[in-house]
Amino acid sequence: MMNTAVIAFGSNLENPIAQVQNALAAVAALPQIGSLKTSSLYRSAPVGYAEQPDFINAVAVVETSYAALELLQQLQQIEQRFGRQRSFRNAPRTLDLDIIDYAQTASNAPELQLPHPRAHERSFVMLPLAEIAPDYPIAHFGTAQQLAAKLGNAGIEKLPNPFSGCLKAQ
Ligand code: AMP
Repeated sequence: MMNTAVIAFGSNLENPIAQVQNALAAVAALPQIGSLKTSSLYRSAPVGYAEQPDFINAVAVVETSYAALELLQQLQQIEQRFGRQRSFRNAPRTLDLDIIDYAQTASNAPELQLPHPRAHERSFVMLPLAEIAPDYPIAHFGTAQQLAAKLGNAGIEKLPNPFSGCLKAQ
C-alpha cells in the first residue's frame, strides 16, 4: 500500500547544496519510494545555535510503501552514508532528514514523533512545503500555505534551482 509522506532536508556543512541535492536523489532512488516531488532549495539562517553557517533546506512529498519506522530507518542510513556527525542539539550537520508527516498519522513515540513536533513553527519547512503542496494539512495547525504565510520569509531565501520539480515520476 502506498502512503504519502513529507520529508525535510537540511545541511550546513561540506557543500550543503550538493548534500541536499544528493540526498534528494538518494531518497528518490530508494526501492520503495514510488514518486518524489521536491521543492526548490532554500537558504535559511540557523535556529537555536547562531554561530554556524546558513542552512540549505528542501522538502519532498513522496509516495512510499515503507511503513513510517522503515522510512525513518532508510533516512537514517542515508544520513550516515553522507557522514553525519552528531555533536550537540542544533549543532552544524552535514545532513539532517526529518519526517514531517506520514499519512496524517499521529505518533508520540520518542523515536518517531508525528507530525514532526516543531515543523509547524519552522519557515524552512513550511515555505518549501507550501511551494509544492499548499493545501497539505499539518494536523490541527492548518495548511502548509496558512502556516507559511503566518511564519513569513524573514531569514529565508528561495534559491534559483534547476533541479526543482519531480525527481521520480510514478
Ligand atoms: P535530530 O538529531 O534532532 O535529527 O534527532 C534525531 C532523533 O529524532 C532520532 O533518534 C529519531 O528517532 C528522532 N525522531 C523523532 N521524531 C522524528 C521525526 N518525525 N523525524 C525524524 N526523526 C525523529
